[in-house]
Amino acid sequence: MIPDSAVRLAHLIRTGELRAQEVVEYFLHRIKEKDEQLRAFITVCEKEALAQAQALDKGAPARQGLLAGVPVAVKDNIVTRGIRTTCASRILENFYPPYEATVVEKLKRAGAIIIGKTNLDEFAMGSSTENSAFFPTRNPWNLDCVPGGSSGGSAAAVAAGEVPLALGSDTGGSVRQPAAFCGLVGLKPTYGRVSRYGLVAFASSLDQIGPLTRSVEDCALLTQVIAGQDHRDSTTAAQPVPDYLTELAQPLTSLRIGLISGELLEGIDPEVGTAFERIINYLEKEGAQFEEIEFSSWKIALPCYYVIAPSEASSNLARYDGVRYGFRDQKVNQLRAMYEKTRTKGFGPEVKRRIILGTFALSAGYYEAYYGQATRARHLIAREFSSALKKVDFILTPTTPEPAFRFGAKADPLAMYLSDIFTVTANLAGVPAISIPVGMTKEGLPIGLQIIGDFFQESQLFRLAFLLEKKVEFRKEYNKII
Ligand code: GLN
Repeated sequence: MIPDSAVRLAHLIRTGELRAQEVVEYFLHRIKEKDEQLRAFITVCEKEALAQAQALDKGAPARQGLLAGVPVAVKDNIVTRGIRTTCASRILENFYPPYEATVVEKLKRAGAIIIGKTNLDEFAMGSSTENSAFFPTRNPWNLDCVPGGSSGGSAAAVAAGEVPLALGSDTGGSVRQPAAFCGLVGLKPTYGRVSRYGLVAFASSLDQIGPLTRSVEDCALLTQVIAGQDHRDSTTAAQPVPDYLTELAQPLTSLRIGLISGELLEGIDPEVGTAFERIINYLEKEGAQFEEIEFSSWKIALPCYYVIAPSEASSNLARYDGVRYGFRDQKVNQLRAMYEKTRTKGFGPEVKRRIILGTFALSAGYYEAYYGQATRARHLIAREFSSALKKVDFILTPTTPEPAFRFGAKADPLAMYLSDIFTVTANLAGVPAISIPVGMTKEGLPIGLQIIGDFFQESQLFRLAFLLEKKVEFRKEYNKII
């Protein structure tokens, strides 16, 4: 029997009770069985994964690592040396990176096996994977629904048991929202906790790489492996990385919980609301103290995010000019026309929308009114977080206003943007936030809860998540996905 827990799997491989090769073969088989329908993967690295497994079985030092022999799926906007990295965009369709992202290096050093690259909204812009230039990914709980996004491929793969662990990236909710839609644990670490070296930049001041897993324990383990300072990303922090896995079991010493005032929660789906209340009631019984926090800037977080993120994106995506990377339209012989044609054909509609929005927001004459104003709003949000987190240890919200929606349900971009209402604030402030599954709708779709904490308090987030995980016992639900 191959366990679905990464902690357990790595243990069995370290002790020699399982061989890495049989583990990899098992998951490759699962992928073959399921992915024709789900389409979570853009690339499956069968050959490389088997070679890595054989090396481990022959006694490579990584066999003693924290993730010995555990297959991991990596979102396709995280570069992998020699393995195609597309960002789900035509413009990078044939891009084979000459270098490895820091997180991938760390994974390999810990004995993990990169089994494939997962689908996403093009350049991580979206909340459903419908913006992938190649194909949408389906939600394993209901194939007519989206898995969320932009890390939808990673989330679907883990939920369906195609792989025990996956990495996503979160700029405004792209790890937490798909985690909520697919019934997983998903963490956006503190800005600077995990190196962004090798993460294809979307909005550099907001981007963080984060894990998607089936349990809090696995999330702690994967965070432990990828976190830490990296001289190749100067925004990483020098703070030592705690032993998250050991700290998990320690009890919470203080349980003061902040709830944002009612108004924001008014529009949410009733089943999401009920699941949220159930958790609050439970925590009350556990002795938690609650405080309603005045968060007047929460309302402006979404417009603020949708100015800052596209602004940074318009600058970051300027590098795809047909010269330096990937696709080039060869049919023109003038430089300017080549740029134009390359970018017109290479980018999809959502990416173009963001580039245009961002370029406008940064242009002379408008800069102050848009980018300047958004930056000030961002400071306000950060200040409100810092004063709230002096009074409480955690802030709880639903992760998303509603469970997974159907394909095509959010054709209006603004409707799609609204699904980020609870998640973008943590990115704007830089604080860590985790989503955990806390229930199911009558229709059989998972519901997520978001826990936000103070800078570098990931360990605290894990502990509260662990406590709730025991109460909710969501794990048995995975048996419903065959
Ligand atoms: N859905 C948000 C957006 O479209 C967040 C994306 C992300 O976190 N990468 O920008």
